[in-house]
Amino acid sequence: LPPQPDLDLAALVRTIPDFPKPGIQFRDITTLIGHAAGFAESVRRLSARAETYRPDFIVAVEARGFLFGAAMASAMGLGVVPVRKAGKLPGVTIGVDYELEYGVDRLELHEGAVEAGHRVVLVDDLLATGGTILATAELMRAAGAEVAAALFVIDLPDLGGARRLNEAGLPCETLIAFD
Ligand code: AMP
Repeated sequence: LPPQPDLDLAALVRTIPDFPKPGIQFRDITTLIGHAAGFAESVRRLSARAETYRPDFIVAVEARGFLFGAAMASAMGLGVVPVRKAGKLPGVTIGVDYELEYGVDRLELHEGAVEAGHRVVLVDDLLATGGTILATAELMRAAGAEVAAALFVIDLPDLGGARRLNEAGLPCETLIAFD
């Protein structure tokens, strides 16, 4: 598909009120990725930003990060490394626990999936508090990788994720924002 620099990606994201619980405005990217030009343009814009960091790998966060990260890696001629929820990866893993609003969760990475010294760009669909991506960055550093940046389709600036990443010294870029 030809580039469409004027395409309004935000208009292709559907908002579902009160999912998964009351008060949450869920920003649903299924409508964006179901739109051929919208998906192509999202991947093109993310890839263009990722290129500037000259990564060796793209690291994609379960689950919606896989959709964008895999397409970006293929477009960029790179491999993609999945970071998954606990218990999903079949091989030997390293993991990190991180705080959720209520309780803790765990993210895992296959041992040897990234080599020490490799530069990686992290990808997820949406940046809210930044907790998920900071845990992913911690996992990458534990594996010896250098985290160049974190990229997202959507930013929710009110939740302060970009500021938290900034304070942690992790460059971040987002394509669109919702209040
Ligand atoms: P956080 O760790 O707070 O930055 O949350 C980011 C993760 O939660 C991402 O994987 C998002 O897919 C998901 N997420 C958080 N808030 C929303 C929202 N309002 N709409 C859609 N996904 C969300």
